[in-house]
Formats: sequence, C-alpha cells, structure tokens
Amino acid sequence: MSSSNDQPTHQFTTQIVHADRLAGTEYGAVHQPIHTSVQYGYEKVEDLIGVFQGTYKGGFNYARQGTPTTAALEAKVTQMERGQGSIVFSTGMAAVCATFLTLLKAGDHLLASKFVFGNTNSVFGTLADLGIEVTTVDVTDVAQVAAAVRPNTRMVFVETIANPGTQIPDLEAIGTLCKERGLLYVVDNTVASPYLFRPVTVGAGLVINSLTKSIGGLGDALGGAVTDTGLFDWGNYPNIFAPYRKGDARGWGLQQIRKKGLRDMGGMLSSHAAHQLALGAETLAIRMDRTSATALALAQWLEQHPAIARVHYPMLESHPQHAIARKHFKAGSWLLAFELRDAEQCLAFCNRLQLPIKATGLADTRTLIIPVAHTIFWEAGPAVRANMGIGDGMIRLSLGLEEFEDLQADFAQALA
Ligand SMILES: *Cc1c(COP(=O)(O)O)cnc(C)c1O
Repeated sequence: MSSSNDQPTHQFTTQIVHADRLAGTEYGAVHQPIHTSVQYGYEKVEDLIGVFQGTYKGGFNYARQGTPTTAALEAKVTQMERGQGSIVFSTGMAAVCATFLTLLKAGDHLLASKFVFGNTNSVFGTLADLGIEVTTVDVTDVAQVAAAVRPNTRMVFVETIANPGTQIPDLEAIGTLCKERGLLYVVDNTVASPYLFRPVTVGAGLVINSLTKSIGGLGDALGGAVTDTGLFDWGNYPNIFAPYRKGDARGWGLQQIRKKGLRDMGGMLSSHAAHQLALGAETLAIRMDRTSATALALAQWLEQHPAIARVHYPMLESHPQHAIARKHFKAGSWLLAFELRDAEQCLAFCNRLQLPIKATGLADTRTLIIPVAHTIFWEAGPAVRANMGIGDGMIRLSLGLEEFEDLQADFAQALA
C-alpha cells in the first residue's frame, strides 16, 4: 500500500508512466515485471512472522493476498485516485461484492442509487436475503437521499456516471450529507475514471473502479479496485472486527477488506492481468480525451437528427445534471445512450450499422453497441427498467478510438 495523499509534483500521465519504478524494479526493468510466484520465502523465520503480524512492511506471503505485480498496480490506482491505499480484485464485481460483504452486517441498512450497474443491482437482492436492508433512491436529488437515511444506515453507494442512462448523482451534496451523518460514502467511479473525476474531491471514503473498463481500456483483461481516500473515520465504524482494530485506525477499513474480501473470499487478480491493466492505465488520459470528444460530437449530431427522440450524454446542455457534470468532470466519457423515435426500429437499426460491434462490455478500443432492454436489463424485468427510465428503444454506445467522421457516416446511412 503506497500513500499518495500528498500533493503530486507531476501531471496525470507523467505520474502514471513513471509509477512502476517508484518502489524499485529488479535489474532496472522499466516496466514492473510479472511475478508469478505463489509463495514468498524468508531467510529468517522472524521475517515471515513479521509478514503475518504486519510488522514487516512490503512483504508478501501467499499470492491470494497480493504479489509485487498486483502491489504495483495498487500503487498506481492509489496515485490516480489520490487515495491512501488500494486493493485490486479479479473483477470489478469482486471489488463491489467485497466492499458490501466485508463492511455490512445483518441489520444494517445500505442506501444506494437506483441508477446502478445491472449486476450491482442483482447483488442488492443477495444482500437483502442476508438480512442487510437495501433502499434505492433517485440520487440526482439529495433530498431523496436525506429522507431515506435511517438510524441503521451505514453506507451510501452511488455511481459517478450511471450506465446506461448517464444519470449523475448530486455528488457534492451527498458527500456533505454523509459527513454530517457519519456515513461511509462509496463511489463507483468506473465510467468517469480518476482522469475525468476524483471522488475524493466530494468527500468519498471509498472509491471503486472496474479496471476492466476505463483504466485497463483495451478489452483484454478483467480487474477491479477499491481505494481508501483517507477521509472516512474507521475508528467510529462499528463493523470492524477485533483483529483489525489495531494500530492506526486509518488503515482498518482496507485491512478488513483485504483479509475478508481477498484472503477469505479469494477473488484475487492474477499478476498477468495486473500487468495488462497497468499498461492500459498508462494511456487512460489519451483514450478518455479521444473517446469523450468523439462521444460529444456524435451526441450533438444525433440530438439534431429527426429520427432520434432523446440523447443521454452529460456534456449536452439538455442533460438534466449538465451543471454538475460541467462543474466536476473534465469531459463526458465514452458512454452515450439514445432512443429512436420509432422503438420498433431499434434492432434493425443496430443491424444496419457497420462499424460499431454488437457486443456487451464497455470502454474497449472499438465502439460497442447494444440494445439495453433486450439484453443487459432483460433479467431485471419491466418494473426495474421502468424505475430506471430504460425504454424498449434505448440503445447504449461505448465509443472506441475510431475517427468521428467514420462513425458519423455509418450512423447517417443506418438512420437514412
Ligand atoms: C462493469 C462495471 C462493474 C463490474 O466490473 P467487471 O470488471 O465487469 O466485473 C461495476 N460497476 C460498473 C459501473 C461497471 O460498469
């Protein structure tokens, strides 16, 4: 766990491309090597004991809790989010689940956004069965969040730019509310990424990223991360188990997530995937600038097209949370959703497009397209879809690196 709450001396990408060598690499390797060893041995048994008892800093014992390669990626994510430490997981969902399951207990209340990733919404059902109450509200309105807080509320969970509808929570006001009520504010920053927005700036205690998406960005490896921003007071959090209530309280939260969520539940990232994700992270800023510019140009073009009923994109003036997006985000990201006037044309339109690949998934280098109601929100059912504002004609786009002119020409022929 490296600490990088200190003010950085360099800009975003300068910092990230030089991050690997900070902790020193063998033989002067310019990239962090892929460490495949599962076991880590010590000359003196006292050192091995020190690793177990947490007094031997920077030591490894068994790869289920980390390797030098995953630790380098953790340090990189920590730098990007300006946190005090991070833990990486095999997928974004492993990170989401570990956060809920290690920090909430039966009888607790989780207050969450109703605009969340479909699988996260599915986890809410699992939590309810385990005796954790879950309420979902429209987080674009802080009054709704405030009204839903109960005496047993422990955590407030939101996503920075919701998929597929691009709703944006009242990020700052919810941060203030959480601070006043002593609630843990957890922000899933997957779509925006720490390049466009850092949740630490609005008071988040924990930040989750699916590394599969913006940060990895090449569509070739799965991963997830949880970052502790250092803002939450773990000393007052009732659910920390006795073995982790030792030493500086600032470390208690991540310690519990690592021991329970990684060591016990086992969703560890492989060193190979960590290496791929770390390489992808180096081009995060370049990819986000490019895909955000393309997405905005396409959103503006679609919005004036007579066959289109609605376009959902944060940097359009018509977006309901446009002011929040302008205030907090460097750009609007690669995520765009729109609705055809004639919902019945939705599937035929997708088939007429030549460039976008008909596939689920987000933030690849290629543009991906999917009709939402028939696929990723099919299992959720009509009631959940209606509650989230997902109509039968909604189409989601994840913009890739193609030139805007080529995409525009393809959309023009498919809409003609
Ligand atoms: C994709 C996604 C996840 C899950 O990430 P995986 O790496 O696919 O498991 C979680 N949250 C959001 C917002 C996502 O888009």
